[in-house]
Amino acid sequence: MDDTIAAIATAVGEAGLSVVRVSGPQAMATVDRVFRRAAPGRLAEAPSHTVHYGWVLDPATGQPVDEVLATVMRAPRSYTREDVVELSGHGGVVAGRRILETVVAAGARLAEPGEFTKRAFLNGRLDLAQAEAVLQLIRATHEAAHTATVQQLRGGLSAVIRRARERLVTAQAHLEVGVDFPGEGHAVWSSPALDEALGAVEGEIAGLLTAAERARARIHGAVTVICGRPNVGKSSLLNALLRRERAIVSPRPGTTRDTVEETIVLHGMPVRFVDTAGLTESDDPLEQAGVARSREALAAADLALWVVDRSTPLTPQDAAVAALLAPRPCVVALNKVDLPSQLAMDAVRALAPASPVMPVAARDGQGIAELEAQIAARLAPPQPSEPRAPWVTHARHEAALREAHAAVRRARAALAGDQSPELVAVDVREALDQLGTITGETASDELLAAIFSQFCIGK
Ligand code: GDP
Repeated sequence: MDDTIAAIATAVGEAGLSVVRVSGPQAMATVDRVFRRAAPGRLAEAPSHTVHYGWVLDPATGQPVDEVLATVMRAPRSYTREDVVELSGHGGVVAGRRILETVVAAGARLAEPGEFTKRAFLNGRLDLAQAEAVLQLIRATHEAAHTATVQQLRGGLSAVIRRARERLVTAQAHLEVGVDFPGEGHAVWSSPALDEALGAVEGEIAGLLTAAERARARIHGAVTVICGRPNVGKSSLLNALLRRERAIVSPRPGTTRDTVEETIVLHGMPVRFVDTAGLTESDDPLEQAGVARSREALAAADLALWVVDRSTPLTPQDAAVAALLAPRPCVVALNKVDLPSQLAMDAVRALAPASPVMPVAARDGQGIAELEAQIAARLAPPQPSEPRAPWVTHARHEAALREAHAAVRRARAALAGDQSPELVAVDVREALDQLGTITGETASDELLAAIFSQFCIGK
């Protein structure tokens, strides 16, 4: 990392500002070649964390390129831990690019995607899990993903992994003393103490795996299955929720044969709504297939939204649907409240005693906001007992945790079975390596390249 890199760090387009970031040992010297500071003095002599007003000039022609503020951050107190200059110029498609071209002409190299963050990682300012959090933060499209990611960026996950790795390193050291000096009177750590240490690591990893499950719903969307007998207004309700036409609405019963799925963000949390074809038996083979799919969807659901048509009396089919829903959390949408009621509320309550009943009219949107609030409240996962508990939001991290968990369990089994310390050590080493891929200590160059190539240029 002895060269100096540059890139536009802001999104290109009509905007108030565009920022060109320059990082590397020659950052100040390079910018000094093209920057005319209003006050006397060069950036190369400027103290760290100071801002300087002036103009970027084309060194060949002396023509002004843009009016800028140059921020100087000296190593190691910068994003990359290198010398950094950020040039804030005018926004727009052209201004940032012109500044960048000028800085490159003055000796900087165009940065590759993610190269600033990669340098921050290689210089030890961020570990790999934190670097990945940066990427996820840039991509977060809803509040829940943002919260989880900020927690990861602050090092919540990294701290737990580091602690577990320290324990494993100690365990391994003791095991290897046993390996290296068999029978020479060196005290090998006693099995119970070793097992206790490994047990603690196993528990910590198990906690992280639970966190991964919690995060999955928050990040990728909890599943709500919309159920009800034909024609009660399931598709219409999904449409009302989407506020756009996507599901096929038909006045004929049973025409939505397949499941329709849409994700919407409710109260900052993504929710995947699945409209089911029908849950109750039918003679039509096509519908039977739909019934099977609907039941599968329901089995995997976090919440059921049972739709009842208030303008007709309850039928045995309604009761059959209610019976299928009974074991899972449920919200009842009492639909078509714009029509005269033909339905006794008590009868609905009797079929779904533990579920809130929300009056709505899918057709005109009445009550939809209240229904959404109720769904969001029901789906909000229990907060972790400790507010700073780490989030596990990457499938890659979860996979490594599973491998590490299995390896620790194998190590404990080997220990319990009086296996040789060498054998126990193999599994401890495996667990260490797996955990190290999360924070980056044991990540291969290929893995690093794959991760950083997902970044945008300038980050
Ligand atoms: P599904 O079979 O349960 O998906 O029901 P649909 O969404 O296809 O709706 C069946 C019929 O009920 C359609 O004619 C809808 O226009 C009508 N419908 C749905 N919601 C309402 C509502 O809130 N009020 C009234 N009056 N009609 C509705």
